[in-house]
Amino acid sequence: MTAIPVWDAHTCVPLFAQYDLASLQRHIDCGAYYISINIGMDFNPLDDIIQIIAGFRKRINELDFLIQVESFADVERAQREGKLAVSFDLEGGVPLCESPAMVDLFAKLGVRQIHLAYNRSNSLAGGCHDQDDGLTAKGKAIVDAINANNLFMDVSHTGYRTSMDIFEYSNKPVIISHGNPRALKDHGRNYRDDQLKACAATGGVVCINGVSRFLNCAEASPQSMVEAIDYLVQLLGPEHVGLGLDYVYDSHLDKGPDNLDLAHWWPPEAGYNKASEGFLNILYAPPERFLEMTSLLQQRGYKHSDIEAIYSTNMHSLAKSIWR
Ligand SMILES: [Zn+2]
Repeated sequence: MTAIPVWDAHTCVPLFAQYDLASLQRHIDCGAYYISINIGMDFNPLDDIIQIIAGFRKRINELDFLIQVESFADVERAQREGKLAVSFDLEGGVPLCESPAMVDLFAKLGVRQIHLAYNRSNSLAGGCHDQDDGLTAKGKAIVDAINANNLFMDVSHTGYRTSMDIFEYSNKPVIISHGNPRALKDHGRNYRDDQLKACAATGGVVCINGVSRFLNCAEASPQSMVEAIDYLVQLLGPEHVGLGLDYVYDSHLDKGPDNLDLAHWWPPEAGYNKASEGFLNILYAPPERFLEMTSLLQQRGYKHSDIEAIYSTNMHSLAKSIWR
């Protein structure tokens, strides 16, 4: 069986400038031609983030099978040539220093997707594990800049109220780059039905992740991911569903910044237990999972065209219309 082409809206690599992105070959082997990788979260110092972007850009340029996305044509070229188009996403708006001009700068450095808060609230937005007072005036200015730069406006890790404000406020479709339905697993990082419907109503796409704690399965099984896909397809239609695996390559190398307060960013009362789990020692579905899910979806009677839509063409078309 040939792999279905995959658009992975979010996956992680260890955040240090010298990390060798050659590991991403595995994504190509599993059908992917596009991947968005995280270059920083709200707790990463800005000078680290800049060095990570510099290091990653250098390595992408060196490796023949990776293509840095400067425009949508780079995605199409990667698809044609059997390569992997790579762009960056920013997880949380703190590194933007409340400055819309920083969005312009990050866009020029290869960032194509931003959400405003990482679990905790900040001056722009409410986080999903914090008191959420909604999108602030400063947050609106950042949404304007994300819209004006033709980037994906994302509401992963964002609080309920802020996400609903953003669906209302953004003048472009809004995505959930890696988020699962709450109806199947009651976790604060997951999304209620009205949020999912509001996301789809903007013309956006909800991309499910393969993280065990956000699925109805401690092993993050292929079946549990297909269940999440099927739930969203029933609720929103296949045209609003995508994949944002949230796999973490070489997670043993990812230590986080010095003195990171794990219990603040991943509160135990919200269902995390980072102290005993280690920084990122939970189960992540690997890219090979794309292949396993395909046969399960076929068994459920999914048409080839619907599987393709979920795996890539929904996000592909949205990027084509938004990124320009
Ligand atoms: Zn994330």
